[in-house]
Amino acid sequence: MLCDICGQGNARIRHISRSYGKGETLLVIKNVPVISCPDCGESYLTAETLHQIDRIKRGQLRCAEGNARL
Ligand SMILES: [Zn+2]
Repeated sequence: MLCDICGQGNARIRHISRSYGKGETLLVIKNVPVISCPDCGESYLTAETLHQIDRIKRGQLRCAEGNARL
């Protein structure tokens, strides 16, 4: 696929685990698609992936607030 950074066609999607926060707010998201380009060496997330991560984060926050009220 085309690399958004350098425009070469050798970019590949890798799936990795990413973690956000720490301690009780630690959130680990598995199988995050990361576009990795061997030509320019960049690894980046698509806007869609960032959007989904944002939704997961907000969902987890709501969950944490719900637990605090029990
Ligand atoms: Zn590139």
